[in-house]
Amino acid sequence: MKDSDAITCDEMIAGGKAALSRALAQIESAPDLVSTLALLSEAYARAKGHVVGVTGPPGVGKSTLLSAMIRMLRQKERTVGVIAVDPSSKVTRGALLGDRIRLQTDPEDPGIYVRSMAARDRLGGLAEITVAAMVLMRAVYDVVLIETVGVGQSETDVRGATDTVIFCVQPGSGDSLQFLKAGIVEIPDIMVVTKSDMEQQARQARADIKSAIRVTEAAEASAFHWPVKVLSVSAARGEGVEALIEAADSHMAWLGQGNRLTQKRRSQAQEWLVDGVRERFGREGLKHAGPLELGPGESPFGALAEVSRKLQASYKA
Ligand code: GDP
Repeated sequence: MKDSDAITCDEMIAGGKAALSRALAQIESAPDLVSTLALLSEAYARAKGHVVGVTGPPGVGKSTLLSAMIRMLRQKERTVGVIAVDPSSKVTRGALLGDRIRLQTDPEDPGIYVRSMAARDRLGGLAEITVAAMVLMRAVYDVVLIETVGVGQSETDVRGATDTVIFCVQPGSGDSLQFLKAGIVEIPDIMVVTKSDMEQQARQARADIKSAIRVTEAAEASAFHWPVKVLSVSAARGEGVEALIEAADSHMAWLGQGNRLTQKRRSQAQEWLVDGVRERFGREGLKHAGPLELGPGESPFGALAEVSRKLQASYKA
């Protein structure tokens, strides 16, 4: 691919789903092209959407919940981009991909875009390509939902690439609560007990979560700390979905006070930059690169290109 064939950020934003597909194809096929980095930097600067991660173990009801959230968001006339991170595809190339398409959305609706992506064999954080896709979608849609499978600090951890994390818990399964109590799972912004139509078990799960987080919450209570919300939903019955969206919105409103959101996104960008250098040049390259400090509003993609250029030049010399 040549720079002259590349799509610009304006074309991507104006061009609907077809243009976004082209842009995504470009970041996949030519990630280091100058115009790809320019596209990403521009999209990074034009962030408009709220990025929400929805995570939890397999079978908890994430796909069903996501479909219900998408329907509700569309009723509110908000546009939605979805990235479903497929944990299986690094091993069996897309075995679960069919599964992911369970997400029920209207293919004719121009306000919804769904994309499955492989988790790839990356330790910690999402694959670089997933982060790049999120940055593109964030410039186009009002809400970007990222679905990952996990029970905490797994390789599909969404914390580093989202504004708000929703962690789903299955009624009657003690697993996630054990992790929570043991402090293995970092507390998300919102915890949601799925399948609240399993009435007694769902009420019990909610009470258990509340008691499990009370200790940590008490320790961290301060003006700078978001008090985690614990909700229940029945995606099957459509109950609690609106309240969940309101909770996510209020977390975003909270982030919007002062410079919390700016700081959060900047420290995430800082992490991507460090990861990007490590992925391309290894630990040695990282040492060689020296301090990697992003300026306010500076795109990590532009900075990565710059650092890469310098490292390549110094290795050639
Ligand atoms: P995922 O693996 O986390 O994406 O979970 P799915 O959305 O595929 O749901 C797993 C199973 O739970 C399916 O059999 C769903 O029909 C069922 N399920 C999902 N949501 C609900 C719900 O609100 N109530 C009940 N009773 N079952 C649900």
